[in-house]
Parts: sequence; C-alpha cells; structure tokens
Amino acid sequence: MLAGFACLGAAFLAGPAARAADAPRLRLRVLETSDLHTAVMDWDYYRAKQDLSQGVVRTASLVRAARAEAPNCLLFDNGDLIQGNPLGDYVARPGGLAAGERHPLVAVLEALGTDAATVGNHEFNFGLDFLERSLAGAKFPFVCANIERADGSDFLPKTVVLERTFVDANGAAHTLRIGVVGFVTPQIMNWDRSKLEGRLKAFDIVDAAHAVVPDLRARADIVVGLCHAGIGGGPRLVGEENAALHLAEAAGLDIVLTGHSHRVFPARTTPRPTMPMRRAARSPACRPRCRASGAATSACSISIWCATASAGSSPTSTSRPARSPGASTASWSPPSSPMRPSRR
Ligand SMILES: [Zn+2]
Repeated sequence: MLAGFACLGAAFLAGPAARAADAPRLRLRVLETSDLHTAVMDWDYYRAKQDLSQGVVRTASLVRAARAEAPNCLLFDNGDLIQGNPLGDYVARPGGLAAGERHPLVAVLEALGTDAATVGNHEFNFGLDFLERSLAGAKFPFVCANIERADGSDFLPKTVVLERTFVDANGAAHTLRIGVVGFVTPQIMNWDRSKLEGRLKAFDIVDAAHAVVPDLRARADIVVGLCHAGIGGGPRLVGEENAALHLAEAAGLDIVLTGHSHRVFPARTTPRPTMPMRRAARSPACRPRCRASGAATSACSISIWCATASAGSSPTSTSRPARSPGASTASWSPPSSPMRPSRR
C-alpha cells in the first residue's frame, strides 16, 4: 500500500489479556513502514515530476510526529524495500553497489531509526548476491524465519531479541525484551525461481512460526511478527501467499505487522476491501487493529502492566507482564494519504 507513499501495512494485536493487580501501565507504540519500494523522495521518476503522495521523506514526518506523541515507540520495516523504481534499478545495475557500500534504502531506514526489519518478495528480484550485499552492514537486524539456504543454514537470522528501555505511567523505566520474528510470502520460490532454485528454500509462514515462536516467546517480554504478506480470508491453506491473518492466530505472538498487499486495512475508500478482507475485519483477532490503523499508516499501541515496577525505579527488567491486555488503542491518527495503485 502506498508503497513508500505513506509507508504502511497493517498492524494488529494478538495474545491474551494479562494484567497484574495494581501494576503501573506502560504504553508502547509500534510503528511500521512497509513496501517502500525505493521511494525515497516525493518524486515520480516515470512522469519526472513531484508526487506528494509518495516518498520516505514525507513518511519521515509522520514517524517524527508519532514519536513526539508517545514516549515509548518502536519502528519496524516489513520489506519490499530495495526494488520498485528507477533508483532501485540503478543501484542494482552491475557495479551499482560495491562490496561494503551501504544500500541507500538501508541507509534511509537507519536514518529513520528502524529497530528491525524483514525482507519482502521483491528483495529477491535482483538475486541473492545483490541482496546480501544490500543488507550487509545494516545497523539494525533483518530477520526472516521461513527461508533457509539450500543446505539448511539460515539465510538471515530467524529471530532477534532487542532490549529497549521504556517509561511507565509513573515515570519509572523498564527494560523490555522485544522478540522479533520475520516472514516472507513463500511464493518467492515461484516468482524468482531462476535466481533462487537450488540456493534457497521457503516454507509456509504459519509452520515456520510454530517452529520458532515458542523459543522466542520464552526469551522475550513482547513478541512482534513482521509478516510480509497480506490478509487472506477463509480457512488456512498451507503455503498461501497472504497468511497474515492465520499467522495472527498462532500462539505466542503479541503483534503482527503486515504488508505486501498495498492496502489500507480496514478501508472504506478505494480500493474497496475484498470479501476476504472484510471477513478478516470482523475477526476477533483483527478488531484491535481496526481501531489502530484507521488512517493511512500503521501504528498501534500495546499496553503493558509492569509487575515489577515501582515509581522512580531505575531501569529494570520486568517479569513477564508484557502480553497485550486486549485494550489496545491508537491515539495517533495522521492525515489520510491518497491511495494509488501500486505493484506489490
Ligand atoms: Zn510484497
């Protein structure tokens, strides 16, 4: 959606309520960029004119505003980063990115203060060698749990645990362990078969979650799933492209961030939500997100009751209070951005 135009995707919360009696509450805002597709500037290369509906330069203002409103923020990117316009093609041309040189979109995410990211299907369009050069040296982690090299080794780390210090409602600091796991639509093996066959394997998103999330859950206070896939309705079919809703039903995830489909969810304007998306909007798993992403952005808040907190305490690890209480709301409603059809 708004590929880089207003960087979004959708975010929704999963996980049972858990509230410690009399515990102070810590509110954490989770922001996402997704499907930036190398749209750094508010510029349409094909028409050679400014386009105010796109560009990380404009999205950065939304991120800054969101952070100004909330003391506790995380920012993730959900993939389809390095391909999408002539800038991406220019960098990917032979000799366009020397070993050790920073990919401009990775540099952009660093400048935004991105905490972690996953890869999208378009990351593979230019081949694995270019992708590895592009991600090498990033100052934030890329994770993806449902791809491996042909020999079974990790292509990217499947998960990461970030430690971040946030402030609760009483002003006390808490260091939380943020578990992050990434997923990409497994159709990459069809769409870029010539580049990936014999070098990479891709697995069903939900199966991969079942394999890695329990261990991550045990090591983290909050678990965030970065899912480069859209929302598909209906019963689960193993290997489907848009598995985000089914992923949200997997145990152990507190938040699922979606992307890939270039759509606002839920949306009453064009493009109209498909029937599967309307069914998804009625799903209990999605309701918190409906409130959280009513505008053209992806932002949600998670409330955490800090079982070990006391006013004025120095940074400390919480015990495991960080499950969503199911009372999530987003107070940030940035201005809507015009939708525009875009390649996934
Ligand atoms: Zn995609």
